[in-house]
Amino acid sequence: MVRHFSHPHPLCPFEVEEEQGLTCSGCELNLSGSAYKCNTRSSTCDFYLHKSCFELQRKIQHASHPQHPLILLSSPPSRWGFFFCNACDGSGSSFTYHCKACDFDLHVHCSSLPDNVTRHDHQHPLGLVFSLPKVEDEEEDKYCGVCKTGFKEEFWAYRCKECDYVIHLGCVNAEADDDYYDEVAEEEEEEDEETQQVEDDDHEEAEDEETEEDSDSIIARHIERNTALQMVINNQNARMMRMQQQMMMNNTRRLFQFGL
Ligand SMILES: [Zn+2]
Ligand SMILES: [Zn+2]
Ligand SMILES: [Zn+2]
Ligand SMILES: [Zn+2]
Ligand SMILES: [Zn+2]
Ligand SMILES: [Zn+2]
Repeated sequence: MVRHFSHPHPLCPFEVEEEQGLTCSGCELNLSGSAYKCNTRSSTCDFYLHKSCFELQRKIQHASHPQHPLILLSSPPSRWGFFFCNACDGSGSSFTYHCKACDFDLHVHCSSLPDNVTRHDHQHPLGLVFSLPKVEDEEEDKYCGVCKTGFKEEFWAYRCKECDYVIHLGCVNAEADDDYYDEVAEEEEEEDEETQQVEDDDHEEAEDEETEEDSDSIIARHIERNTALQMVINNQNARMMRMQQQMMMNNTRRLFQFGL
């Protein structure tokens, strides 16, 4: 039996089957593999932690926020009960790496994103950047290579320096927008007709390799995809919450105008 600062009851180790549909009480993502759960006899306590979330350091120094250390909090300090992540712009309502002085928050999963990722539809690795290079010309606004929507300068992205190709964090494991993808594929077809035969051979080899992939890495890929999806959902929730807040503020303003 072990204790964790984020929970009042003792926890015990627990192996999670993927199908159980449980959520980690720390990072709020799907639970699988080695975990801990609340060991209280009362069945009302649904507290679970990934082993990796159980082992998170209480204090980290993060390259994206060099000026202060970040402290792991078990819940957001704001009275609203949620925070907005300074990496992905998504919301969270549980664990956060927080800087009080700057009101800076990171999802725990955003604090440990890989420095580089590769995508099958881009020939170079994409590097994690904490902001996008400033553009003078507004016409040259950056758009995500996957979902084709814009960026806010202050949030993180994955970027290819050579091509200035950028994608949202949440789009890393998503398929590119279909229309765009077809266009690119068509262009490539026209250009590469002569080398088609060679390419087909390559494809076959690649497929053979894929069938040999062990189940662990397939599961890992599924988890990655779920994580990305969860982040996208979080983003949408955050936008909705912000809209609701805006509406509430507008209503309050109107009440004042009417002198109520
Ligand atoms: Zn977790
Ligand atoms: Zn408990
Ligand atoms: Zn985040
Ligand atoms: Zn700070
Ligand atoms: Zn995107
Ligand atoms: Zn590139």
